[in-house]
Amino acid sequence: MKKTIRMITGATALLLSTSALAAPSDVMALQDKALQDDIAYDIVEGLTTEIGPRQAGTDAEARARDWAVAKLKTLGFSNIRNEPYMMPTWIRGKETASVVSPFPQKLAVTALGNSASTGEKGLTAEVVYFPTLADLMAAADGSLKGKIAFVSHAMKATQDGSSYGAFGPARFVGPNIAAKKGAAAIVIRSAGTDHHRNPHTGNTNFEKGVTPIPAGALSIPDAENLERMVKRGQPVQLNLVLTPQNIGQQESGNVIAELPGSDPSLGMIVIACHLDSWDLGTGAIDDASGCGIITAAAKHVMAAGQPKRTIRLLWAGAEEVGLWGGNAYGEARKGDKHALAMESDFGADRVWRVDFNLPETAKPLADQIAGALQPLGIGRGQQPASGGADVQAIIRNNNLAVIDLQQDGTRYFDLHHTPDDTLDKIDPEQLRQNVAAWATVLSIVGNSDADLTMPAKE
Ligand code: ZN
Ligand code: ZN
Repeated sequence: MKKTIRMITGATALLLSTSALAAPSDVMALQDKALQDDIAYDIVEGLTTEIGPRQAGTDAEARARDWAVAKLKTLGFSNIRNEPYMMPTWIRGKETASVVSPFPQKLAVTALGNSASTGEKGLTAEVVYFPTLADLMAAADGSLKGKIAFVSHAMKATQDGSSYGAFGPARFVGPNIAAKKGAAAIVIRSAGTDHHRNPHTGNTNFEKGVTPIPAGALSIPDAENLERMVKRGQPVQLNLVLTPQNIGQQESGNVIAELPGSDPSLGMIVIACHLDSWDLGTGAIDDASGCGIITAAAKHVMAAGQPKRTIRLLWAGAEEVGLWGGNAYGEARKGDKHALAMESDFGADRVWRVDFNLPETAKPLADQIAGALQPLGIGRGQQPASGGADVQAIIRNNNLAVIDLQQDGTRYFDLHHTPDDTLDKIDPEQLRQNVAAWATVLSIVGNSDADLTMPAKE
């Protein structure tokens, strides 16, 4: 008995030394509640069912904003608003690819965002194969005149998603490089890790002064098939029909809502997701789940009592087709007192690591958060947090502290930007673990008066 009392006393002493910020027992209770959460799933289910695909600048995205405003109102958030901005808008047309010779057959293709049109009749040309982006870069200027460049790569699944950084450039910059070398068009092996016959779309960009060319992504099995054809040694003729259009400046917008804190002088926590999605799937993992996670977590914090800091939700209206939403927020809201930025935009699978970029003086806060995340199976990373795409502008403009809750990306690029990005891919248990992790961080930081001012940049 005596021994038990001593143990409790010791534990209490330990708790007291770190409990100035938020009582750990409160955080544990909040985690327990969040692990039963149905709000995040309800948001993903609602958005994918009642809106579906919601490409930025289209009517669907406008309907999604109305849906978001109504949902955030129902959940009891304050200061809900739709902040519109204009952006150039590209929309998909017809898309087919067929090998004309020597082995006639259709290939599964999709246009990349900002692709030029081939015209209704399409274009037929010889394929020039590049095993990697580096091989395309090494091709002589003008050597691709009238040809269709075909760039492959060896992207594999990685838990931290780093393979997208390594192989994604085939999509991000491959078309621009091919255009500069005179290619008539380009097809790439999809930046993905599945073996389904689904091509992965995504944005590409052409530099100012470079005339855009038709640019498509082949599904991975089709890219492998085309590779085998090329390796048989005869010239391969491909017919490509892509008829996307630029429909000019259209309205998009950010939806913003708040859980007001009791002490605005502490600066707010801005938490982001993006409401827009690509048009091929229903945008369940990219990024309805992110909106579900951050909103559910904030709602659990709301239910536990008013935090000291304001928590602001940013459902950014345009991420996929350029960072129009995040940039509009970063400009329009840079006068608001922010303390911390976070984003959820990497699917719905479990959080496995937390990364920080906080001032040195906030080390006890980071230690407390890392400790509180341990019961959820989340370890502490060694690299500085950088935030997501939609908070880049506000982080840069306001020199903000950042916390990243890194999700398991092992299967993310099986689904990313494909017709398979749908509700059935969401694992409700992993989604709840995300909500619990987010609620933990928001509760601890939200109730902390630690100074999160970052040292001035050189
Ligand atoms: Zn995304
Ligand atoms: Zn995306």
